[in-house]
Amino acid sequence: MTPRLSAVGQTLRDRLGAQRIVDDPTELETYACDGLANIRVRPGLVVLAENAADVAAAVGACADAGVPFVARGSGTGLSGGALPHAEGVLIVTARMRKIVAVDPDDGCAVVQPGVINLDVTRAAAPYGLHYAPDPSSQQICSIGGNVAENSGGAHCLKYGFTAHHVTGCSVVTPDGEQVRLGGRAAEYPGYDLLGAFIGSEGTLGITTEVTVRLTRDAESVRTLLAGFESTDDAGAAVSAIIGDGVVPAAIEMMDALAIEAAEAAVGCGYPAGAGAVLVVEIDGPLAEVEHTFAAVQEHCRACGAFEIRVAADDNERTLIWRGRKSAFAAVGRISPNYIVQDGVIPRTALPEVLRAMTELSAASGVRVANVFHAGDGNLHPLVLFDGRVEGAEERAEEVSGAILDLCIAHGGSITGEHGVGVDKAKHMPRMFTDDDLDTMQLVRCAFDPAGICNPGKVFPTPRLCGEVPRVHHAEETTPAEIF
Ligand SMILES: Cc1cc2nc3c(=O)[nH]c(=O)nc-3n(C[C@H](O)[C@H](O)[C@H](O)COP(=O)(O)OP(=O)(O)OC[C@H]3O[C@@H](n4cnc5c(N)ncnc54)[C@H](O)[C@@H]3O)c2cc1C
Repeated sequence: MTPRLSAVGQTLRDRLGAQRIVDDPTELETYACDGLANIRVRPGLVVLAENAADVAAAVGACADAGVPFVARGSGTGLSGGALPHAEGVLIVTARMRKIVAVDPDDGCAVVQPGVINLDVTRAAAPYGLHYAPDPSSQQICSIGGNVAENSGGAHCLKYGFTAHHVTGCSVVTPDGEQVRLGGRAAEYPGYDLLGAFIGSEGTLGITTEVTVRLTRDAESVRTLLAGFESTDDAGAAVSAIIGDGVVPAAIEMMDALAIEAAEAAVGCGYPAGAGAVLVVEIDGPLAEVEHTFAAVQEHCRACGAFEIRVAADDNERTLIWRGRKSAFAAVGRISPNYIVQDGVIPRTALPEVLRAMTELSAASGVRVANVFHAGDGNLHPLVLFDGRVEGAEERAEEVSGAILDLCIAHGGSITGEHGVGVDKAKHMPRMFTDDDLDTMQLVRCAFDPAGICNPGKVFPTPRLCGEVPRVHHAEETTPAEIF
């Protein structure tokens, strides 16, 4: 432990009490990775924060000593965003699980950052409300992590991502100050600092309280499972449904390998022999849902669905969703190791990109299972490998990188919802020029001039905030400045 970190540890032991500090090497090891388990770094020190004052004390001590710190919620992130710093402090918010208020009249809730996503919906349910962003990890991931990653989920096609459901955040800035971004109202004047904070992957500060919008439960919900011979047919059905002006609450696709994995794990009973299945959910007012649901079934049949199962009740709906929601973990049943990739393409490119992925897989001998949010073109290819076989991981990495190339070549992005973290920092220059990245760095430096807040994440080449990005001209305007 460096002398500076040791001094921070002593300060925090004095201020917060020894029970909130973890410094035993064996215990520290349990925090060495998040959901990206192949990269591990043992943190220098862990602080188990119980309230905003604890977070401010920990960040303030780090700022005074120039020691890096990293926020961690539940540690389910898939891009290594919560990967600790070996000579820094990991500030864990998992004990901050208080639902401060549920206000059905204003349709909002105020929660601490360690609150589990699904617990917000559980608290809102008695009022006929729910929290709409629903990552597949919603039973374990935290709202603070959701804010940092701007997380999405199956129902974000219709309802939007975390950014559309968070109106305010209390934030401890990287110098230890407590500030408020946004509030309960929908819009605030001035620069949208809340917008900058959401999705900033823990690099602009730590949120200690989040105000979220609650969404009224739909009057009616209908769910179906459609079996197709191929991903081409299923992709055509997705285009037909959305091209018809229907906005399903969710439209999810799984290919044959993902179905095989889900069957092995949870016996979901999906149509035998299917090359792809779609899970389609329609919600809204009863009359509208009945009409739209009939149209969806027609589109599926017209595109070659050989079996359509309609959930008769909530139990059957849960059964249909079980296979989809278990898919990531289920892949462990058919492969000892796998990489969870996350990329986005325009929806219309789905059939072409899926075909290209099949060719890539055949040529390399690396199996790729596909399970994804088809409605918004957010792919989650699961690249399978056996880590015991020499060179297998490298081959899987190559295929995984080639899939991102496909996404970029088709006008898409290297991440849809899992973030850049450490995992994809090296891919950022494939999407952005140096000027783009410099512009993003200016934002980071405005919040964190000392560069101590989750350093080494998102950006491929760390730049000190004192370094002035290259001056460039208006005619060189690049994507980061436009969006
Ligand atoms: C099986 C599985 C399924 C998943 N499905 C989805 C999905 O459908 N959609 C999706 O979007 N993601 C999904 N994920 C990814 C992950 O669950 C989300 O990114 C989630 O939001 C991370 O929350 P967390 O609490 O685990 O955050 P962590 O992993 O602890 O941290 C994630 C990032 O947030 C930062 N952070 C954490 N807390 C705070 C805070 N209070 N203030 C500021 N920064 C903070 C961390 O520094 C880190 O950069 C899935 C993961 C798994 C394992």
